[in-house]
Amino acid sequence: MKSDKQLIDETGIRSDGRKPDELRNVIIKAGVLHRADGSCYLEWGGNKVIAAVYGPREAIPRHSQNSLRAIVNARYNMAAFSVDDRKRPGPDRRSREISKVISEALEKVILTDYYPRAAIDVNIEVLNAEAGTRCAGLTAAGVALADAGIPLKDIPVACAAGKIGATEEDGTFTGGHVVLDLGKEEDNFGNADLPIAIAPRTNEILLLQMDGHLSSDEFERALDYAIKGCHDISKLQKEALLKKYNVSEGDE
Ligand code: ADP
Repeated sequence: MKSDKQLIDETGIRSDGRKPDELRNVIIKAGVLHRADGSCYLEWGGNKVIAAVYGPREAIPRHSQNSLRAIVNARYNMAAFSVDDRKRPGPDRRSREISKVISEALEKVILTDYYPRAAIDVNIEVLNAEAGTRCAGLTAAGVALADAGIPLKDIPVACAAGKIGATEEDGTFTGGHVVLDLGKEEDNFGNADLPIAIAPRTNEILLLQMDGHLSSDEFERALDYAIKGCHDISKLQKEALLKKYNVSEGDE
């Protein structure tokens, strides 16, 4: 994931005009689908994502049931028209991996032992992809779960940080800058990407993946950035839910 592309200038301004610790624009709407038990539409920069939650309901087939708790099936799918070159429809290795890590992250905040033998299905559809879709999908899933009234320890939220900059022709780093929320060009040509998901009340890490290389100092800085980004997005999740249920902040 190394490249010689200069993605941040001497004054610290990134190629899309953002500061190092600035998020892309995020818009969240709760309860957009009437047939799902809970749903969310989320835009994050150029990403457009829908999450729909069904359940809890009896897990089928019966051999998939757990007699002590509900199972959580997150299914992440990227639409064929979501990227520049048409993506072959259907599951692939990447979408299976993302579905698995999102299911495991959501399981940590859902009070699954309230619903033995049940399944909770979380469908995440990426309509437009522009880097950071797993974070956008997980964040939308968090709102959709709350909208479905599923008991949660906390509303999960995700955000990435990474490292962009340049390498010299001989391959040595000229520096590299830790930044929040990589955009498409930064994701393609950056040096590292660190998507995380947290339970914002406790800062428990629900998901942490890393692509590329970071020194331990850079890792600490990227983690701090990503946690701060998660808290900013968490506020927008709560605002979207309060808006749907016509509750003003003071009435909480
Ligand atoms: P994330 O979307 O969580 O950042 P990746 O790092 O795997 O996950 O992907 C980065 C970006 O690469 C995606 O957001 C999307 O814009 C693009 N991308 C991923 N898969 C494909 C694909 N099959 N075809 C074209 N672009 C893709």
